[in-house]
Amino acid sequence: MEERGNISIHTENIFPIIKKFLYSDHEIFLRELVSNAVDATQKIKRLSSIGEYTGDLGELKVTVAVDKDAKTITISDNGIGMTAEEIKKYINQIAFSGATEFVERYKESGDKDQIIGQFGLGFYSAFMVAERVEIVTKSYRDETEPAHWTCDGSTEFAIAPAHKETRGTNVILNVASDSEEFLEPVRIRTILDKYCKFLPVPVEFEGEIINNPNPIWTKQPSELKDEDYKEFYTELYPMSEPPLFWIHLNVDYPFNLTGILYFPKIKNEFELQRNKIQLYSRQVFITDEVKDVVPEFLMLLHGIIDSPDIPLNVSRSFLQADSSVKKINTYITKKVADKLAEIFKKDRTAFETNWDDISVFVKYGMLSDDKFYEKAKDFVLLQNTSGKYYTLEEYKTQVEANQKDKNEQLVLLYTTDADKQHAYVEAAENRGYDVLKLDTVIDSHFIGMLEQKLEKTTLKRVDSETIDKLIEKDEAKESVLSDTEKEDLKKVYEEAIDNKNMMVEVAPMSPDDAPLVITLPEFMRRMKDMSRAGGGGMMFMGDMPDTYNVTINANHPLNQRVLKAEEKGKLARQAFDLALLSQNMLSGAALTSFVKRSFDLMTKE
Ligand code: ADP
Repeated sequence: MEERGNISIHTENIFPIIKKFLYSDHEIFLRELVSNAVDATQKIKRLSSIGEYTGDLGELKVTVAVDKDAKTITISDNGIGMTAEEIKKYINQIAFSGATEFVERYKESGDKDQIIGQFGLGFYSAFMVAERVEIVTKSYRDETEPAHWTCDGSTEFAIAPAHKETRGTNVILNVASDSEEFLEPVRIRTILDKYCKFLPVPVEFEGEIINNPNPIWTKQPSELKDEDYKEFYTELYPMSEPPLFWIHLNVDYPFNLTGILYFPKIKNEFELQRNKIQLYSRQVFITDEVKDVVPEFLMLLHGIIDSPDIPLNVSRSFLQADSSVKKINTYITKKVADKLAEIFKKDRTAFETNWDDISVFVKYGMLSDDKFYEKAKDFVLLQNTSGKYYTLEEYKTQVEANQKDKNEQLVLLYTTDADKQHAYVEAAENRGYDVLKLDTVIDSHFIGMLEQKLEKTTLKRVDSETIDKLIEKDEAKESVLSDTEKEDLKKVYEEAIDNKNMMVEVAPMSPDDAPLVITLPEFMRRMKDMSRAGGGGMMFMGDMPDTYNVTINANHPLNQRVLKAEEKGKLARQAFDLALLSQNMLSGAALTSFVKRSFDLMTKE
């Protein structure tokens, strides 16, 4: 006897709405139906283990089949199956009310991207690709009759007795004419690969098992070798270089989370790839947009996170406020910090070897998370120009004696480009100072943070002051020039340079120091960097020319010669151009006339 009925939901026909708005994400129907089938097999396994089911379990499996001629896709399982009553209860009521709720939420938020991929539509998603869906099912309960349910996505259904010998469910999709792409086996295989690759029950398609039901993140770390982790990485990212190291996540209280996070080898900063972490819920792929679930600074890691506690059926703003998501964030941050601390302690050499690759995570983490800073401050490394690595504490001890200024302030010197700033680095080193290499994009922020966090410590770029002023000591230098001579010298240079962005001053320095030094004050450069990065309500200064200091060394023999020379201006300009040249600042017409002048001077002598 066939029974016809009406599905009791409020929205009359939600099918067209769903179909219209979810166009880009139609493929998730397969994820939903295959995971239902997997759930059904897990349920029968559980019933068997507690003695509620005493029959033969058989080999639990889900099969996907495409019949191009009949235009059907069939998802079969040998799980618990359903009785006619259960279909009415679970499919007619739960599945359809789930879909109704989805549509209502969609209407509220109005943003489909917020919902797609976050919300499993469940059984109803079948109607995104099928014009008619059938269920043929036989419950595990011996005494019950198999049932056949048919529905076209409207609120009407038909249910009749069926012939089915074996336990389980076949869901048959009669594919709609606008969705025939899904009758292509290649397409189905791609979708299965994306969403079902690690489902816990074998999934068969075209005679092959397409999944790995026991991915390593479900195992205990003690069962696994390094090779297993590396192999799994290759399985996830076939063309990638091997990872540096990994962290096996495993918690069950106060939330449930497993997974493996890999530190990738970074080739260059511009190649950083986000969305490489995949989010799973009980081994079903959900999304690779893990923003909000993983702390921002760890988005560059690769790997997978599996948690049934991440609410996937809510909008993003809700996700950010969700307390288990916050706890997950804190947990992951802590685990990553602990792992880094462990490697640092156990194998400092390996840590240093990998430092270039991991420093961006560590620095970014310290900048964005105070708790991470507290742990990382003990293993964050500074590297000096000779390539040696120090912790903050070690470095302080190393330079303390020599690099305190007259106010007891510790001055750390750094270069952003040891090649270009070579003359300055050398001058500093000749003074017995140490120079750090801080040359990555994140370092300008890192420097600001260090100054904030470290007591009585300033950082200065080597070319921000003349060597005497970089670290100001108490001793005053005698000048061989009188005050009037200094005034004259200043005028000569000002006229020769003839540029209002070059602030000329004359100061007594050592005769061994350069005759003149061009510097860009630290604060000027930082302000420009900040405004370029668009930071903190700063006015835009990117177009403003730099204002340099040109310090003339009163004690250098060359400058005494300039004062006495016939062609004072020419000599001063020549000296200035040489200083520009040493800083890579001479180009174009200025360079041409410099070369010409040089030949001239050489010819005359
Ligand atoms: P959800 O899976 O989130 O509960 P669905 O709409 O996907 O929602 O499914 C509704 C219900 O229908 C399921 O909870 C389950 O009880 C039942 N169901 C769906 N597919 C199967 C299946 N293949 N075998 C047994 N029961 C199923």
